[in-house]
Amino acid sequence: MNSLFNYEFEAFKSHGQMPSPRGVALQIIQLADQENTTTQQIARLINSDPVLAGRIIKVANLLVHREGRPITSIIEAVTVQGIKSVRQLALGLSLIEDFRAGACTGFDYQKFWAHSVCTGIAAQSIVEKMHVGVADEAFLLGLLSQIGRLALASIFPQEYSQVLAQSGSASSLMELERNAFGFNHNQITALMLSDWGMPKLFQEIALHIEQPETSEFSEGERNWRLLHLFHFSDRLASVCTSKPSERYRLIPQLMLLATRAGVETAALIEVGDRVMHGMTEWGALLNINVPALPPFEEILNAASITSELLGIDALPGSQSVLFKLQILLVDDDRAIRLLYKTLLEKSGHSVTTACNGREALEIVKTNPPQLIISDWIMPELDGIEFCRALRKNPDWHKIYVFIVTAQDSAEKLIEAFEAGANDYLSKPINPRVLAARLRSAQRIIQMQEAQEEDRLQLRQFADELATSNKRLQELALTDALTGLPNRRYAMERLEQEWALASRARRPVCCMMVDIDHFKTVNDTYGHQTGDEALKLVAKSLQQAARKQDVVCRVGGEEFMVICPDSAVKAGFSYAERLRQHVASQTLQAMSKPLRLTVSIGLTDNAGLESPEAMLHQADTRLYAAKAAGRNCTIAGLS
Ligand code: GH3
Ligand code: MG
Ligand code: MG
Repeated sequence: MNSLFNYEFEAFKSHGQMPSPRGVALQIIQLADQENTTTQQIARLINSDPVLAGRIIKVANLLVHREGRPITSIIEAVTVQGIKSVRQLALGLSLIEDFRAGACTGFDYQKFWAHSVCTGIAAQSIVEKMHVGVADEAFLLGLLSQIGRLALASIFPQEYSQVLAQSGSASSLMELERNAFGFNHNQITALMLSDWGMPKLFQEIALHIEQPETSEFSEGERNWRLLHLFHFSDRLASVCTSKPSERYRLIPQLMLLATRAGVETAALIEVGDRVMHGMTEWGALLNINVPALPPFEEILNAASITSELLGIDALPGSQSVLFKLQILLVDDDRAIRLLYKTLLEKSGHSVTTACNGREALEIVKTNPPQLIISDWIMPELDGIEFCRALRKNPDWHKIYVFIVTAQDSAEKLIEAFEAGANDYLSKPINPRVLAARLRSAQRIIQMQEAQEEDRLQLRQFADELATSNKRLQELALTDALTGLPNRRYAMERLEQEWALASRARRPVCCMMVDIDHFKTVNDTYGHQTGDEALKLVAKSLQQAARKQDVVCRVGGEEFMVICPDSAVKAGFSYAERLRQHVASQTLQAMSKPLRLTVSIGLTDNAGLESPEAMLHQADTRLYAAKAAGRNCTIAGLS
C-alpha cells in the first residue's frame, strides 16, 4: 500500500466505526506488540477475561493437533501457539464477539462469519496438507480474509445495504463498492491487516483472494501457490455456506480450481470433510449458525460436472495448431481426466481416457493413440509400469508418452525416462507449459509420420517397379503377334535344357519348323491374312505339343520346339504329328479355304558338343526337308 492510499484510508476510517478489537483483546494486541513481553504476562492478561480465556483454550485445542492430553490452561495455550498466534486469535475472537449482528440490514452477519470461519478451517487444512505454510497462521488469515466487507457494513450500513442489493457478481460488487466508497472490500481488508500489523504477504493475499490472476506473483512460486490455495479455500467456503441449489452450481468450478492448485479429488474430499467437521465444532464454540451438510464426497458426486460448466478455454496458441493428435489420457482422478480432456478437445485434439495403466493398455491394443499423457501414481498399474509394458511391443514404440509427476527429483525423472517416457509434465499441469510441450511433441510425431509415409511410398514404388520390370521382362521374351516365347527366350531355354540334359545324361530334342511357301500367302492374300495364318500355325503347334515341350517363334515364319527327355526317335514321330496337325487346319481367307504345310528339321543332343551345334544341325536338316519337297520331317535317321 502506498502512502497516498494510507492517507485516503485514514479519511475513509474517519466516517465511522471500523471493526476493531476492544477491551482485553486490544490490550493483548498492544502487549504482544511490545518487545520483551513474556508468555506469562500475556497469559495473565487473557485470564482476566474468563470468556475469552475459555475460548482461546478451546481454539488452541482445535488448531493444534496433539497426541494425547488436551491443552487445559492459558499458559499452555500461549506456550504451544506462541505469542504472535495468540495475539491474532484474540483479535479474531473479539471481532466475532462484537460483530455478530449490526445495523446493515442487507448484510448477513451470520453467513459472513460462517464463510470466514470456513475459509479459515479450509486454509488451515489445505496449507497443512500441501506443506506450504504454517497452519494456524493460515486459519487466521482465512478468518480475516474478507473483513473489509464487515468494515463496509459497519461504517456505511445504509449505503452498503443498497450496494449489496444492486450487485450481482463479486466483480460487479467490487466496482460498485469503489464507486460508492473509494475502495473495494479486498482493498479495505488489505489496509486493515496492514493496520493490525499483519505480514505483507497476508495483505497481498487478501487483496487478490477473489481474483488471483490479478496478483503479480510469478506462476508456480510459493506465494503464488499460497494465494491460489486461499482462493480455493474461499471458494470452498462458498460451497459450504450456500444454499443447496447454488452449491451444486459452484462444485465444478471448485474441482477445476482444486486440480489447478494441485489438490487431487481424494485430497479435496479429505479437506472438505475436515472443513465440515470443523464447522460444527467452531459453530458451537463461536455461536455461529452453520449449515448441516452431507459428506463432502456426496456433494461432489451429486454435482453433474459438464465441460460447459467448467468454462475451460482452449490451450494457448492452439488456433495455429493444424495437426490434430489422437491422445490417450490416463489418470485415476476423475476431475483431472475431465479437465484435461476438455482442455485438449477444445484445442482441437481427439481424446480418450483411462483410469489406470491396465485400462490404458487395453485401449492401446484396440485403438493406438499418437500421444499418451499418463499420471505416475495410479492403482492396478502405475504410469511407469504402463510405460514399460507399452515399450515391449515394437508396434507402440512410436507413441509419444508424457509422464505426469508431482515429484521432479532427478532420480524420479531418470526412472521415468528409463521406463520409456519421452517427456514429463510437473503437477499441477500448467496449461502454458502443456501447450508448449505438446507443440514440441507434435513436431516429432509429424516428422516420424512423414518419415513413415516416405518409407511406405518408397516401398510401394519399389513394388511397382518390380511388377513393371517383370512385365517388361515378359514382353522382352514374348512374341507380340502369336504370344509365343520369342527367339531370345528360345535360345536361353535351349541352353538351360541342354545343361539339364547333359548333367542328367538324358536326351533333349530340338526341331526347327518353317512354313512352306509363306511368301506366296502374303503375296496372294495380303500381309494381314499372312499374320492370321502365322497365328493359326502357332496355335496348332501349341495344341499338338506336350505339356513339357516349349514352342517358340524364332523368326518370321520359323518356329522352334524343344522337347526335353526325348531322343530323336521319339522326336520324329512327335514332329510328324505336329506337321500333320498343321496340315489338317484350314484357314478361311477371302472366301477360299487355305491350307498350310510346314517343313521340319529335327535333332537331339546325342554326340553334339553344344546347343549351338544342335541348332545348326536342326537348321541343316530343315534345309534338307525343303530340298526334299517340303511338308516333311528330316531327322537324319536313315
Ligand atoms: P519356303 O517354303 O522356302 O520357306 O518359302 P517361303 O516363302 O516360306 O520362304 P521365304 O523365307 O522366302 O519367305 C518368308 C516370308 O515370310 C517372307 C515374309 O514376307 C514372310 N513373313 C515373315 N515374317 C512375317 C510376318 O510377321 N507376317 C507376315 N504376314 N509375313 C511374314
Ligand atoms: Mg518358309
Ligand atoms: Mg523361312
